[in-house]
Amino acid sequence: MSSQVKAVIIHSALDLRLGDVPLLDPGPGEVEVTVTRGGICGSDLHYYHDGGFGAVRVKEPMVLGHEIAGTVSALGAGVTSVKIGDKVAVNPSLACGTCRYCLKGLPAHCLQMRFYGSAMRFPHVQGGFREKLVCTAAQAVPTGDATPADLAAFAEPLAVCLHAVRRAGPLAGLRVLVTGCGPIGALTVLAAKHAGAREIVVTDIAAPALAIAMKIGADGALNTKDAPDGLDEYKLDKGYFDVAFEASGNGRALADAIACVTPRGRIVQIGMGGDVAIPLGQIAAKEIELAGTFRFYEEFSWAVDLLAKREIDVAPLLSATIPFSNARSAFELASDRSRAMKVQLAFD
Ligand code: ZN
Repeated sequence: MSSQVKAVIIHSALDLRLGDVPLLDPGPGEVEVTVTRGGICGSDLHYYHDGGFGAVRVKEPMVLGHEIAGTVSALGAGVTSVKIGDKVAVNPSLACGTCRYCLKGLPAHCLQMRFYGSAMRFPHVQGGFREKLVCTAAQAVPTGDATPADLAAFAEPLAVCLHAVRRAGPLAGLRVLVTGCGPIGALTVLAAKHAGAREIVVTDIAAPALAIAMKIGADGALNTKDAPDGLDEYKLDKGYFDVAFEASGNGRALADAIACVTPRGRIVQIGMGGDVAIPLGQIAAKEIELAGTFRFYEEFSWAVDLLAKREIDVAPLLSATIPFSNARSAFELASDRSRAMKVQLAFD
C-alpha cells in the first residue's frame, strides 16, 4: 500500500516548494520513520540558491535534506534492531556493500553510494525533508528517549567532523587552527576539543559565527575580514599550529593554513571549493601533509552516542527551528550568517 506525505522539494534554483511524495510500506529489513527534525546543510543551501554546486545540477525535482531525526513508526519484516516508538537519527548514507571500495572497508567511497538529497546520481537520491520516510533498519540509529530530536539531527554533521578529526590523527595536546566557522567549522571545534586539543584558534569573516566559536570552547577567534593580518603572528618561525582544519573551501584560507602550520604539520581539507592556487613550495619545504576528508561512515553511530551522553554539546549551534511549511523562510534565514548558524525544520 502506498500513501502520500508532504516534502520539501527543490525544482531548480530558488524554486523550493512543498509537494507530495509517495510513501511505501517498509519492506523486509526496512523501517518507516516519522520525521521530527531536519537540519538545513550548506549543500541544501547550494541547491536552493544555485540549483547545485560544481558540476552537480538538479535535473529533476528532488526532496532535500540529510540531517534527519525522527521516531520509528512502522517495521518491515525481520527488523529487530529497533521497535515502534524508538527515537532515531537517520544515517543518510547507504553504501552498496559489494563494490571494490565497500569490500576494502571504505564504504564512504562506494561506487553506488546513495546519499539522501543528492543530485550526484541520476535519478537523484531523494532526501529526508518529508513527513515520513522509509530506510533500512541499519540507517535508523536509536538515540534513546532522553535525546531531543533537535540534538539528534546534529548526528550527521557531527559525524562529518568526527571523521575529519580522525583524518588528522591524534590531537591530544596539540595546537589546532580551524579556518571557517560555519556549522562544520564549529562542530570541528567541538570534535577537536573532545579529542584533547590543547589550543584551538578559529577564523571566519562573520562575527556572530566567531562569537559562537568562543562560546563552545575555542581559545581564540580571528575575523580575517576585519583583520586580514590577524594570523601573521602564527606564521613566524615556520608556523605555530600542529594541525589545521580548512572548513571554508576558500583558497586564501588554505594558503593561511599552509603558512600557519609547523613543519610536518597536517592540514585536513573539509571545505569544498573550486580550483585554487596553493603554494606548493611551502608544502614541500615544510613537509606538510595535506589530507582530504569526505562525509563519514562508522562515525555516525559514534556521533549519536556522544550526543546522547551529552559529551559534545551542540545546542549553542542551533539558531532556529521553523515549521517545514515555512521552508523558504527557513532557507533564507539559514543563508544569512549574520543571523543564523544551524537552522532546523520541524515536521511535528
Ligand atoms: Zn559500494
